[in-house]
Order: sequence, then structure tokens, then C-alpha cells
Amino acid sequence: MECEKVPPVLPEGMSILASSGIVLVPFGEVEKEVLIFLKGELAKKFPYPVSLHFPLPLPADSFNTRRKQYSSHPFLEELHKLPDDAFRFLGITGVDLYVRGLNFIFGQAELAGKAAIISLARLREGFYGREEDLYQLQLRSLKEAVHELGHTLGLKHCRNFPCVMMFSNTLMEVDKRSSDFCPSCESMLSDLTDSA
Ligand SMILES: [Zn+2]
Ligand SMILES: [Zn+2]
Repeated sequence: MECEKVPPVLPEGMSILASSGIVLVPFGEVEKEVLIFLKGELAKKFPYPVSLHFPLPLPADSFNTRRKQYSSHPFLEELHKLPDDAFRFLGITGVDLYVRGLNFIFGQAELAGKAAIISLARLREGFYGREEDLYQLQLRSLKEAVHELGHTLGLKHCRNFPCVMMFSNTLMEVDKRSSDFCPSCESMLSDLTDSA
């Protein structure tokens, strides 16, 4: 059944959709090193299997020529078009995302919903004119991924430093918080996932 969905050539390290669990969906070009890292680390943070979907093209009409940024909503819409056999979808893209009213977003999630998206654009040292640092990019991506997936599981923002569910508006805030849930979020999460 799953074989029918296999595209002609899968990038190395990528598997086809698992029938359940968290599915990571790259949009456009995303470093394999980041995807593989997220797959391994997210599986330690959540009680679900994590799998990698093959890359999808950037959604048509998501680019705003005036802002030179991509609207995040079409990405979430694309995730909802995928076969509905995943528990959660996390989109990952290298392009810069925005929602109306904000200069940019690191990511967006449907609260207690099925889909979330993160952007690596502003998690890169290169964005700030500094030398690229793959490990920093992996670590920041993980924090954003855990944060947005936390939202999809129903968690709201938290004030317990350095909980991963703290709101962050700047790269410095991303770097200050950890990739872990605080005990309070952890216990809410286990209640939520028990009933899911
Ligand atoms: Zn948030
Ligand atoms: Zn917390």
C-alpha cells in the first residue's frame, strides 16, 4: 500500500510516510543534516514515531513579491492535503515566513491541530551576516520544532524559564530557552498525549 506513494528516487535517509506518528515534511530545499537530526531528536521528546516525508515544492502563490517573504498559511494548507494517516505534520522550510501583522515568524502551529510549520531562514547564522554553524542550526531547529509540535498537542506559551514553550520573538530568545519542556508542560503533555 505504501509502495504506491514512493517517488522514483528518495533522497538518502528519507523514508516514506509512516502510517501514524509525527511526519516531517520538507518544503523546498532543506539540509538533510537538519532533517535527520530532527527525526532522531524529536523521537526522544515525544511518545510517537517520527518519519520523514519526501520534499514538497514551495506552495504556489505563497510568495509575497512586495515583502519578499512567504505566507505561512499555504504551507499549512498543503500539509492538510497529505494522506490523513499521520498523527501530526511538521513542515520545515528554508524560506522566510510571515503572517499578516508580523515582520516574520519562526514558525506557526494550529493549536491542538494537525499541522505546524517552521522556517530555518532566521535560525541561520548566515542570515545575520555571521559564519554558518550547522550545529546551532540543528539545535535551534529542534527548539522551534518541539515548540510548534507542543502547540499542536494543545500546549500554550509558558513562563517557566528555560521551558521550550516560552514565547520567543528574537534569535536571542530562541537561544536562551532549552529544547525541553518544563515539569509543568511535561505533565500537561503526558495528560494530553494519554488522551490523544
Ligand atoms: Zn508559540
Ligand atoms: Zn513550560
